[in-house]
Amino acid sequence: MPLSDRVGYVWMDGCICQGSEAQTSVLSYSLHYGMAVFEGIRVYEGRAFLAFNHINRLFESAILLGYKIPYSFDQIIDSLNLVISKNKLYNAYVRVIAWLGDESLGLASGDLSVHVAIAAWPWEHVHKLTKTDPGIAVCKSNKRRPSAATVPPNAKASGGYLIGAIAYREAKSRGFDEAIVCDSEGKLAEATTANIFFVRDGTLCTPVAEGFLNGITRQTVLVLARELGIKCDEGNFSLSDLDTASEIFITGTAVEIQAVTRIENKTLTKGNVTKRISARYSDIVRDDCESFRIQNIIHSQS
Ligand code: PMP
Repeated sequence: MPLSDRVGYVWMDGCICQGSEAQTSVLSYSLHYGMAVFEGIRVYEGRAFLAFNHINRLFESAILLGYKIPYSFDQIIDSLNLVISKNKLYNAYVRVIAWLGDESLGLASGDLSVHVAIAAWPWEHVHKLTKTDPGIAVCKSNKRRPSAATVPPNAKASGGYLIGAIAYREAKSRGFDEAIVCDSEGKLAEATTANIFFVRDGTLCTPVAEGFLNGITRQTVLVLARELGIKCDEGNFSLSDLDTASEIFITGTAVEIQAVTRIENKTLTKGNVTKRISARYSDIVRDDCESFRIQNIIHSQS
């Protein structure tokens, strides 16, 4: 059954409708050229976790691609909360997407309509689903992220997912759960829809976020790790640095904190650093997460 038939109420362009009624044109500019921007947000016990950060990134992503979302920040937040309450969601996942309409398919077209939709569906969080989290198997991909001089890495844009989607499908066909990719210069970057951390000699290492999306979960984990007194190193690493890691985990809104228990042929156990961060993350998603909110909402009014 299509997802659109399963999502209940959807907010689209200012109105609430049934998921099956939230339709767009096959000639939408964004469908053809990858110019949609979107966010995935987790809802824990009825509350959207770090919604402010995600919606701020949505506005910024659109600006990075050269267009403006025709609603205010507060209108999007209110509509998101409306979708959660109308669908009576408790633990859930929300997709917010903005895209350009079908007035023209000329690449240089200006003045295209900008559409926005918000859909959500129930989704238990990984920690709840997998109390005895078995961890995931990842492979080293030969695919590279596009250079920051091509697709802006902090624009969460549909077109930016092409390489990740190919790498992910290749990983699945080789029997892995995820792929780890490098940036355009061959430095360790991230997983296909998540950031990567590893532990070496007790230090929590993660690539400096230059050639890939600086995930909101990644930023949260760095704060938590420092609060827990764990030494952190944001630096330049290579794929081979993962061979000497004692622990590896990936982070993202959807995957939360997921331990890597196999990389290619090497097995790893879920170590103490991963366990401590994972437990702390699991606590804060349900606590008042005010302290993790971004301090300045840059595009608060459109
Ligand atoms: N990298 C990519 C390519 C992603 O798609 C995501 C998921 N949004 C992440 C990293 C993690 O980002 P976040 O923690 O903000 O979900």
